[in-house]
Amino acid sequence: MKIVCANCEEQNNYEVEKEGYYSLSCSDCEADFQVIIGIARSKRSRGHKPSQSREYSIRFFQNGNDDFIQFESNCYDDVELKSKDIFVISSFDGKPRILANINIHKYWVINTKPTEIDDAMVMTAIVLFIFIGLVIVAMISAS
Ligand SMILES: [Zn+2]
Repeated sequence: MKIVCANCEEQNNYEVEKEGYYSLSCSDCEADFQVIIGIARSKRSRGHKPSQSREYSIRFFQNGNDDFIQFESNCYDDVELKSKDIFVISSFDGKPRILANINIHKYWVINTKPTEIDDAMVMTAIVLFIFIGLVIVAMISAS
């Protein structure tokens, strides 16, 4: 089954059944990530536009048993998931990041990677400080 890595978002084929909990190792970035594969019974979601977030609760079948997952998404766009659709939720560090609907061959990012944004912000701040420092040094030596 094609599964999207919860870390690097590369799509690869993995030997998995259509229902179950798995811990997989990405063949691209080698990160370990967790997946839940189930058959949807019902999906409820409530979007919150000001914070561009959404809350999900999904009931599904897991090897004949009823199961339930609830999580928050920092993406406002709703996912498409109908009753009886097979879905895959890929999680990284305990956080659901990707939800794929196998029936319609589509996937959605449900939580963007926080570390990458933080790293980018720290880098921007460092570059800005160096730039301001250079401007001050240039101003001092010019006067
Ligand atoms: Zn990966």
